Amino acid sequence: MPVVFDEAAVDSESLLRVENLSVEFGSGPRAVRAVDDVSFTIGHGEILGLVGESGSGKSTLCLALMRIVPAPGVVKSGRVVFDGRDLGVLSVRQMREIRGNELALIVQDALATMNPVTRIEEQIVEILRDHAGKGTVDRKNFRERALRALRSVHLPNAELNLRRYPHQLSGGMQQRVAIAQGLILEPKLIIADEPTTALDVTVQAQILSLLREVRDTSGTSIVFVTHDLATVAEICDRVMVMYAGRIVESGTVREVFKNPEHPYTKALLSGLLPLVGEPPEELDALPGQPPRPEDWPSGCRFHPRCPVYVRLGKPDVCRETDPNVDETQSHWAACHFANQEV
Ligand code: SF4
Repeated sequence: MPVVFDEAAVDSESLLRVENLSVEFGSGPRAVRAVDDVSFTIGHGEILGLVGESGSGKSTLCLALMRIVPAPGVVKSGRVVFDGRDLGVLSVRQMREIRGNELALIVQDALATMNPVTRIEEQIVEILRDHAGKGTVDRKNFRERALRALRSVHLPNAELNLRRYPHQLSGGMQQRVAIAQGLILEPKLIIADEPTTALDVTVQAQILSLLREVRDTSGTSIVFVTHDLATVAEICDRVMVMYAGRIVESGTVREVFKNPEHPYTKALLSGLLPLVGEPPEELDALPGQPPRPEDWPSGCRFHPRCPVYVRLGKPDVCRETDPNVDETQSHWAACHFANQEV
């Protein structure tokens, strides 16, 4: 259902506005939709958590926000308005300037994004040189900025590590370098796609604290993608829960953790008792796997796995009708029985 934002009001408060965004892979009748009619906003200096199982569409959504969905993927419909600009109508050159300067993507596998045969210093200087314009030579200034960037992410022995190759750093250090690269041009929005998943618990905590520090000191907004609700509780202001290409629940962290309304959110929360408030009632693990995009069920896509659907005697409405939601509300859930005693 199309979401109607009050554009003037939303743009004064929001850095990013996503309207009815859909992403498909392939074309014609064999096209597979990975992100389906997603709408949301992110405020200035806000950290928004995006959670859901693997295959829910989180990473594809992130790539669509950056306008880097790989072929044969394509943004089929909807708009991404960033800082007042509709990213879908910008030229490739304009978009390249926005990426890196204003929008940064930090991914789980930092090493995969680095050139293995280039020293860390050169990798960071490259970003600065690109930004300043090819051919710009200000080696000393660039080096100092690279060093400052590594120190800002609390990388130990920054001078020494600047001269190292990526494989000579630990996983946590590589992730800090990736974050330093993402931050060096002071972006307004960071999209962090599972940046701590591959790290041990201690390093995870350090990276989370670093991202929070970046937000607090620079007012940077962050989309934090994770499958881990404990991390969301730790760092985020708001949370969106994604399932089968759609957002199924959205609200402040406090609202969603204290009063989850969607059975899927409750099931996710049941794995980590109790983070905030009372534990949710349904503690069973979720049966089955999330459906593949080509197999999305009719009606509510969660119904084949939903414990409430079973408890209510498998009502037709769950199988036949998409739940309606008012996505302009602070807290909502895409369930026919949200807010009801069932
Ligand atoms: S609409 Fe029905 S199947 Fe979907 S989450 Fe709600 S109760 Fe479960």
